[in-house]
Amino acid sequence: MSIVIKPLDVAKRGACPAEFSFGGTFSDHMFSQDYAPTVGWHNAEVSPYHPLTLDPSAAVLHYSQEIFEGLKAYRNAQGNINLFRPGENFKRFNRSAKRMVMPQVDEQFHFEALKSLIELDHAWVPDQVGSSLYIRPTMIATSSKLGLGASANYTHFIITGPAGAYFQGGFNPIPVFIADKYRRAVVGGVGEAKTGGNYAASLYASEEVAKLGYSQVLWLDAVEGRFIEEVGAMNICFVYDNKKIVTPSLSGSILPGITRDSILKLAPTLGYEVSEQRLDVNQVMADIDSGKITECFGCGTAAVISPVGKLCFMGKDYIVNNNQSGAVAKHLYDQLTGIQYGTVADPFDWIVEIPVK
Ligand SMILES: *Cc1c(COP(=O)(O)O)cnc(C)c1O
Repeated sequence: MSIVIKPLDVAKRGACPAEFSFGGTFSDHMFSQDYAPTVGWHNAEVSPYHPLTLDPSAAVLHYSQEIFEGLKAYRNAQGNINLFRPGENFKRFNRSAKRMVMPQVDEQFHFEALKSLIELDHAWVPDQVGSSLYIRPTMIATSSKLGLGASANYTHFIITGPAGAYFQGGFNPIPVFIADKYRRAVVGGVGEAKTGGNYAASLYASEEVAKLGYSQVLWLDAVEGRFIEEVGAMNICFVYDNKKIVTPSLSGSILPGITRDSILKLAPTLGYEVSEQRLDVNQVMADIDSGKITECFGCGTAAVISPVGKLCFMGKDYIVNNNQSGAVAKHLYDQLTGIQYGTVADPFDWIVEIPVK
């Protein structure tokens, strides 16, 4: 299937502004295609960014049959554009689609769609240090249908927008609150899928902990309320004795992050041990108290690595590394972002470069 390109007049095209806020500024164009059971995917086009027209009874608006992805495009020193492991995002998109009873999108086609969009909007990939173009592939259920059941029709679209350096005030640790009353996802549920409802369900707890001065919620497993799962929309890692990186094993209710997977592959090449384990929150708090845990950090596409300096559990604050960012987090951050921007060798062939014509 070919993609119809409907570009804006050159005179009407923008370029990345000097000032922008994450998630609030969008580039000139978007990709979209529609799905119907009889014809499959059709109407694939790259066209000027525009509002969608949806029937008020569209299934997505009532029962949240929706999935999304998040990845970034980075400007490299040659002026070309680097994508970081985009194939992993397209695979995960299809896994989320399957779980939410939505049609698959051919991975190669998904890549071609993104490439067409980025080639047209390449001026929107910022070149300030630490900045990037955030990419949001999405699929929504569009059938006009209030009866509960999977939709017949879908729209898949990709929008993009510039994202500034995540750490404005330096690589500073965040305080997190370990949820005691609320749970994010349960084994057998949809926590492994990047589907909107997971995030809507997390907002109440996020607002509550924000009022107490914590910037993210750390989630425990929903069955026993005992095992550490993830933090906000990031996976979590603990560093033991400055050399061993421990992260919860994928439990069925944890979102399998691509940054998490990259750290597990990269860290051993940098001299660290890595381990995926079931992590009992009581043991982890004891290991922070005794100083065995020397660092803690979240990891995900947005921040890459976000040091955690303080964890509140059952009314007590546990301080990690004197509430300072640590050397291991910084080392991994520098290496991973170096690979993304093309300033560090890429031994795993993670980068897919899009030349700017
Ligand atoms: C997207 C996401 C992550 C991080 O995944 P990356 O692929 O590393 O960006 C972690 N947890 C949740 C809940 C997420 O939605």
